[in-house]
Amino acid sequence: MSRLEELKTRIKEALPGLECVIGWQKGYDALHNTPLFMRSDADVDKLEWGALNVHNPAVYLPTMAGKKVGVVVKGCDSRSVVELLQEKLIDRDNVVIFSTGCDGVVDLSKVKAKLVAAGVSAGNAEKVVTDGKTVAVTAGGQTVAMAMADVAADKCLRCQFPNAVLADVFVGDPAPQPTASPSGNADLDALDAMSVADRMAFWRYHMDRCIRCYACRNACPMCVCRDHCIAQSREPHWLSQDDSTTEKLMFQVVHAMHLAGRCTECGECQRACPMDIPVLALKKHLNRTIHDLFDYQAGVDVAAIPPLLQFKLEEDNIKERGW
Ligand code: SF4
Ligand code: SF4
Repeated sequence: MSRLEELKTRIKEALPGLECVIGWQKGYDALHNTPLFMRSDADVDKLEWGALNVHNPAVYLPTMAGKKVGVVVKGCDSRSVVELLQEKLIDRDNVVIFSTGCDGVVDLSKVKAKLVAAGVSAGNAEKVVTDGKTVAVTAGGQTVAMAMADVAADKCLRCQFPNAVLADVFVGDPAPQPTASPSGNADLDALDAMSVADRMAFWRYHMDRCIRCYACRNACPMCVCRDHCIAQSREPHWLSQDDSTTEKLMFQVVHAMHLAGRCTECGECQRACPMDIPVLALKKHLNRTIHDLFDYQAGVDVAAIPPLLQFKLEEDNIKERGW
């Protein structure tokens, strides 16, 4: 039995005790899988597993508080579930985590660039075949094969957790531990190489292009302020409707600060951005600072307390009294 069929069997067994199980299904064309909310065996039969499951289904869990639900996760998604559990934003008794080993997911913008280079329109994608090493897309009657390493999401290039860090049901063999690619942190390396003035100019350029759609916020499983988000709150009124670069930068900086040490680098904020603004780099930068200061990585230990959610009189690496 394939691991997908085993996953379906285990979900069907658990479904009578659950409100629903969240996963992925085939989307509106062969290239796009979309979220799936399984409430019946017929729904479970639609479940997909593989390189097109780009969304992080953990984003739905805080909206289902109080209901007993299941969620199918990749390794990176499982870190979001763990972080939500750590922060008590969801209840361990109310979530059943299903998983299997992940071979990585694609960055659809990289796939589309390959198709364009081959003279094929991505809009006509009829069939996608993936085997963990290659992705073969058939569009307009032509098949374009690409190496997974060339079209993988950047987060997969630096992945340390191809297997869920926490799972109630894990089927099949665990995926092998990947070797981190040097290009996995190219965004941070490029920013580090800039002067402060150039970095500011970089962010002002990108923020000028922001259309304030808040897809970056909405796709984030750790953004849980709901109607109290500064982006829409009128009491207090932090942001106006002024379409200035400064207002937009203000939102992104507050957003990133709110995620410092909580962001699991699932990449959904950047993937969801229709303007291709590299917003993940802001969060990665803050995570690096949190790691240096507190030796902490988000979403890997369900018993740990994120550094900015606790108070210690003396931090190990900040010796206010000992310099
Ligand atoms: S800020 Fe972006 S990368 Fe971090 S948890 Fe939210 S969506 Fe994922
Ligand atoms: S998703 Fe992109 S365009 Fe939309 S608010 Fe976020 S940064 Fe701006």
